[in-house]
Parts: sequence; structure tokens; C-alpha cells
Amino acid sequence: MKYVEDAFASNWIAPLGPNVNRFEEELAACLGVKGAAVLSSGTAALHLALLLEEVGAGDRVFCSALTFAATANPILYEGAEAVFIDAEPETWNMSPAALKRALEDAEIEGMLPKAVIVVNLYGQSADMDPILELCDTYGVPVIEDAAESLGATYKGKMSGSFGKYGILSFNGNKIITTSGGGALVSDDLEALKRARYLATQARQPARHYEHTEVGYNYRMSNILAGIGRGQLEVLEERVRARRAVFERYRAELGDVEGFEFMPEADYGQSTRWLTALTIDPELCGISRDQVIDALEAENIEARPVWKPMQLQPLYQGCKFYDRGTYDKGTFHLSYGSSVSEQLFNLGLCLPSGSNLAEEEQERVIECIKKLL
Ligand SMILES: *Cc1c(COP(=O)(O)O)cnc(C)c1O
Repeated sequence: MKYVEDAFASNWIAPLGPNVNRFEEELAACLGVKGAAVLSSGTAALHLALLLEEVGAGDRVFCSALTFAATANPILYEGAEAVFIDAEPETWNMSPAALKRALEDAEIEGMLPKAVIVVNLYGQSADMDPILELCDTYGVPVIEDAAESLGATYKGKMSGSFGKYGILSFNGNKIITTSGGGALVSDDLEALKRARYLATQARQPARHYEHTEVGYNYRMSNILAGIGRGQLEVLEERVRARRAVFERYRAELGDVEGFEFMPEADYGQSTRWLTALTIDPELCGISRDQVIDALEAENIEARPVWKPMQLQPLYQGCKFYDRGTYDKGTFHLSYGSSVSEQLFNLGLCLPSGSNLAEEEQERVIECIKKLL
């Protein structure tokens, strides 16, 4: 409230101003990167990252298959071809093995991607080292979609700081929010300067309005940046709250045969932005959808894991590299023809808000226990 009031008191009610500048500095310091450009959404940040890499019609972009459509849609904005890379069961994130096959094939075809978009799902970083090494070998830049992983770490460094560009979202459902907003982070300050220029209608430095290329209206307002500054101060608290929610679910439901919570890789700390698990109906006698229905009857919302992009009608016909099916634990061939499809068919996201009261969470848990 103080930062927002400052904006009104100083009459900086604009897509620029002191809160915008300070929020950019504070974000860059938080992530350990050289700079940040705050924007109207995470999707805008992804779009600008592709524009900075000059992705255009006929180009190819690789992208994690198991994600929200916002990750992939900017590829279509630019008329480029999306190629989807499967998840691995150990992290639910991009499989380096599938990425390797995709890069090998693309090199043979003489059609290497202009960029690889790696998503950090549900608060957990992807295994960045092997992914970066592969992309380095082929000279392909990495765009890290950290919309869901702000506050997470990978080998002691902040998630979002590994790609040539990192993408953050401050949409209402994310771990911290500006109601709507996003950021592009990078060590390349020249690129960020160009991103700000493109995000401000690509206005040339002239007294009149001079334009030589297509621009966008993608900047964040000084009011919303004020909310973001206040939110960033409580990020660690929010991570603790989300992890505590996860631990309570696991303590109460972790022993149920056929329930498998999303694994936390030992290379870092997940924020547990959402508590996600797979439910094997053959082992526990109830299906994921039965759990959603039972919760819905109690006016509690729960949702399946993201439907992977290769299964979306919008992306029908796009190339897809699978990790191969996995048949250990809850993963059976009968549950899908790839890891991301298996996760979609079995996976559930439970209510996980930072402000979820213990009594509320108890209601969720009791409802599931009753069904069992
Ligand atoms: C939320 C989200 C986005 C998009 O962010 P917006 O700020 O809503 O545009 C992109 N990628 C992932 C993985 C997300 O979860």
C-alpha cells in the first residue's frame, strides 16, 4: 500500500516511474542477474524474448510439452513452428534425453531451432545443466519460463537466472502478483533496452512520433510495480507457506498406495507453487477425476495437471519428441504414450494458496480420505 500510495502522491500514474525502476532493480538483485524489464504479462515477456532472437515465419522453436499454453502461443504469434519436448518422470520438466534427440534430428535436417523454451513446472526448476550444455553445443539460446518457479533454486542459484532470458509472471495465481504483470530478466542489458523499446510501441528517439518497426504496448504501470515491490519483500514467506501446504498434504496422504507426489529433485528447492500428485486408479481404487468430483461437491476447486501441448487441438500436427513411456510406480503404458501424457492422465493439482488456512486444508484432506 505504501508503494502504491507513493505512486499516487507523486502522480506517477503511468507505465513508467520510480516504482518501475526500483522493481526492476530489486528483481534483478533477487535473481542475481544484471537487469530486468517489467511488463504487462509473462506472455508479453515470452513474446519479446522471441523477438529479440529474431524468431519469424518458418523458424523453429523447441518448447517444453507439459506446460500452460501461454508458453507456446508466442511461437505462433510470429508464425514459427513449435516442436515439443516431453517431460521426464524424475522432475516433470523437460527431458534432456528427448531434447538431445530433437537437436540431433534438427541438425541433420539443417533446421536447428532459433531458441529452446524451457519451463520450470509447478515451482520446480528443470535440470538446467544438461539442457544448457546441449543447447550450448548446438549454439541455441535458452529462454527460461520461470513463471511458476520464482523463489525456487537450482544448485544454489535462483530459478529464472539460467537462460539467456528468463521470464517471470505476476498474474493473480502466481506465487507473488501485481494482479497482472510479468518481467523479462537477462544479463544482456542491450537486449533489455531493446525489449523496453519494443514494449513502448517501438518509438524512435525523436521529438515527433517516429516509427521504423512494429511495436507493442507491453510495459507495466507504476501503480502495479508498486504492488510488485511490496510482494517481492514477502516472497520467501510465500515460499515457506506453499512448502508447508505441500508438507501437510504429504503427511496426511503420502502413504496412500497409488498416490505419488511430484518429486523434488535434489539439485535444488522447489517452491511447491502448486501441490501436484499422480493418482493410479489401479492401485488405490479411485481415479483423479473422482477426486475432483468429490471435492467439487464440497465447493472445493481442484484441477488436472496441464494438458500437454502435443495433445492440444491448436498444436495438432506439431513435432513431438517423447521421453519414452515409463513403467515404474504409477506410470504404466496404459496411462499414456509419453511421460507428459501419463502425467496429464493421472495428475492432480490440489488447492495450494499461500493463504490456505489449516482448517480449510483439513477439509480438502478429509474429503479425499472419505472417498478412499
Ligand atoms: C502463468 C504462466 C505464463 C503466463 O504468464 P502471464 O503473466 O499470465 O501472461 C507462462 N508460462 C507459464 C508456465 C505460466 O504458468
